Formats: sequence, structure tokens, C-alpha cells
Amino acid sequence: MEESHAVLPVGVSIYKLADLIEANKEELARLETLDNGKPLTDSLNADLSLVIACYRYYAGWADKVQGKTIPINGPYFCYTRHEPVGVVGQIIPWNFPLLMQAWKLAPALAMGNTVVMKTAEQTPLSALRVGELILEAGFPPGVVNLLSGYGPTAGQAIARHRDIDKVAFTGSTEVGHLIMEAAAQSNLKRVTLELGGKSPNIVFADANFEEAIEGSHQGLFFNQGQCCCAGSRLFVEESCYDEFVTKSVERARSRRVGDPFDSNTEQGPQVDQEQFNKVMGYIESGQRDGAQMLCGGGRLGDRGYFIEPTVFAGVRDDMKIAQEEVFGPVMSIIKFKDVEEVIQRANNTIYGLAAAVWTKDITKAHAIANGVRAGTVWVNCYDVFDAAAPFGGFKQSGMGRELGEYGLQQYTEVKTVTIKL
Ligand code: NAP
Ligand code: MG
Repeated sequence: MEESHAVLPVGVSIYKLADLIEANKEELARLETLDNGKPLTDSLNADLSLVIACYRYYAGWADKVQGKTIPINGPYFCYTRHEPVGVVGQIIPWNFPLLMQAWKLAPALAMGNTVVMKTAEQTPLSALRVGELILEAGFPPGVVNLLSGYGPTAGQAIARHRDIDKVAFTGSTEVGHLIMEAAAQSNLKRVTLELGGKSPNIVFADANFEEAIEGSHQGLFFNQGQCCCAGSRLFVEESCYDEFVTKSVERARSRRVGDPFDSNTEQGPQVDQEQFNKVMGYIESGQRDGAQMLCGGGRLGDRGYFIEPTVFAGVRDDMKIAQEEVFGPVMSIIKFKDVEEVIQRANNTIYGLAAAVWTKDITKAHAIANGVRAGTVWVNCYDVFDAAAPFGGFKQSGMGRELGEYGLQQYTEVKTVTIKL
């Protein structure tokens, strides 16, 4: 019997990494909350459990991606190999630091690439702790390189570098444009982007009302509203509009904002002063544009970046709060009349990341699922994520898909080998 070699198959190492993250999940969740401000219960139950599942999912793929043998004309044997792209640059944001690290690292490693990853300036800690676990899991030094640098310097250097073969980015649409420009001006590295959104969340009068209220509340306010797929254009059918608004305001008023380390807390502070100011600016613009602010609108307390859960009704499509990504705890409720009209209005945006529909009518559900130009459509649910289900944007919400089998394609090159027989 041949002696086994020291380096483990990559799938085994990724699986080991998942186990190590699981064994250290309390510590990692605390680091995440310390850095980002999200409630510890969310860090543990949402972020960490999705992170662990993501590494396990891609660990399983590592030895299952293979080429084909292809019958071609003539005396030839033709086959394809799925090879690593090479050195992959990855730039991630601060809203889900560990999860964005997992979405990017796991498929890249499973397909045999090496990685240079830049974390966001606000949230470097948890990723660095995972870096230690990566070494502990048996990855050779140099396979994963973590940088805690700034975007315009370290991030740009990655996007421009001629020895980096691919760049994967999650963040604002504005910076997405810069990444593509840098790739175009340097070496035409492969580019995948997961960018902003202004996702329509559509509630029909025939929906299960309680579920639609709670689902729409979570779909907007989860993670302090700092989600690329937040349901930030809440379209509600005319006949149930008034009741929906009243109930949504009640629910927003009852949202528990405070110390993220308190297990009762539903909402912590915004990530930093810049985001806080930006969100407060949008609240002012909503008032200026004539939307009705029915609750919230202010800062909570005088320490930290806490913002009261805010609900605007009477929002029109042309208002700034209905067009731009607010990235904060600000709900905008918009009235609509019928299916055709709401599809057209839902699509009237530069974005196309996600959408949702609440209805018991399967015909309406399909009409929305087919008619809305978005990478993900949730029916009678919101923010349902799974490592196996692809996620990404239409239009200016991005290019390429992350997660699932689709996510692997972004991390391999296909080589055709033709042999004369
Ligand atoms: P951002 O600037 O797009 O940041 C995302 C990542 O890109 C960070 O690591 C950032 O570095 C880096 N970066 C910034 N400028 C860069 C450049 N010129 N070249 C390469 N990399 C660069 O987003 P943000 O400033 O954190 O937030 C601004 C807005 O973006 C938010 O209000 C929200 O609307 C949106 N956003 C979207 C997502 C999403 O999940 N799609 C996530 C976060 C933010 P730094 O560490 O220096 O910032
Ligand atoms: Mg930034």
C-alpha cells in the first residue's frame, strides 16, 4: 500500500474548516457582533449557521466537478478539463463579513484556486480568526491570503493586478463599475459582481395577512436594514393598503432596538457614522418629498448609531427613497392596483437582485415570479437562503451567480484537449 501524502484532498480540508468554525462559533459570533453591531442571536443563528453549511456544501463538490469526453468528427479523442482559474481576488463588504467570506472562499477553494481576499475596513476581525482556522484545517500557507486594507488602495490593487486572474466583488453598484473598469484596463481578469438592490416586495390582498406583515417587516429590517436584497419597495394592493400600513407601523414600533449583546434585541446600531448619516439623509429626503412618516425617523439615544425603525407610507415611485438603496431601517410602502401594473413598476429600476410576492393565488404568484426581472424571487417568504440555491443579480445588481452548482462555474476554466488517434 502506498503511503498517504501530507496534504489532504481539498474537500476534506474545507470540511475540517467547517468543523473548526462550528467548534468556535460562539467566539466568531461575538467577534462578528463586536465588529458589525448586529444582534448576537442573529450572528449565531443566521450568519454562523449559514457559514458552516456553505463550507460543508462546497466541501462536497470538491471531488465532483469533472470534465466530459466529447465525440467529435475524425480520428480524435476529445475531452475537457475543469481547471482552476488561478489566483482569485475577492473583495467583500461589512454587512455579512463571515458569510460573504464563506460564499467566496468555499467555491474558490473547492475548485482549486488560491485566494487574495480583502475584507471591509469596518469588519476585519472575524475573517482573520477564520484565517487562523484555515491554517489549522491544513491549508498550506499562501493558499488563502487575507488583507485588512482600504478599498481605493488595497481593493483597487486587486482589481488592477495583472497576476490576479479573476476578481469577485460584493458591495455597492458604484464600486462595481470601478472594479470592471480596472479589470478592463489591466488584464481582462474574470469579473463577478454582487451589487446593490431595490427589491420589490409585493403584497396582494389575498395573502395570509399575519405572515405578510411579519415577513415584510423582517425582509426590510433584518440586519438593521443593511441587506443587498432588503425588500425596500413594499408594494401593497389598494384594497388592503390601509390595514397593512397600520399593522406594519405597529410592528415597527414594537421592534426592540438596543445592545446587540442582549438576547432580546432585534436591532442593533448601523455599522458606522457614514452609514448612519447616509440613512438619516434618506429619512430627511423622504419627508421633503412628501411621503408620510408614520413612525421613527430619529436617532435612538445619544450614543452609538442607533436609528428608530422608520415607516413611510404614501411613497411614490419617483421619490429618492423608492429609487436609491437606503441600507437602513427605513420601510417605504407604495400602493398598487393590479398585477400588470405592479410588474411594470417593480421592474422600473436599474436593479434586479431579488423580489418577493405574498398571495394565495398561484396564478398571481407565477405572474410575479416570471415577470419580475430579478435573480431571486421569494413566494410567501423572504430572505430564505441555502448554500445550494444560487443568488445574484439581473441588470446593475451584478453579474454571475454565487452559491449552488452555478457558483462553481465562476471558479473554473474549461480546457478542451484533442488527441489524434
Ligand atoms: P463599498 O464601498 O462598495 O464597499 C465594499 C467593498 O469594496 C469594501 O471592502 C470596500 O473597501 C471595497 N472598495 C471600496 N472602494 C473600492 C475600490 N475603488 N476598489 C476596490 N474595492 C473598493 O460599499 P460601502 O462603502 O461599504 O457602502 C456603501 C453602500 O454600498 C451602502 O450604503 C450600500 O448601499 C452598498 N452596499 C451594498 C452591499 C451589498 O451586499 N451588495 C454591501 C455593502 C454596501 P473599504 O473597506 O475601504 O470600504
Ligand atoms: Mg466603503
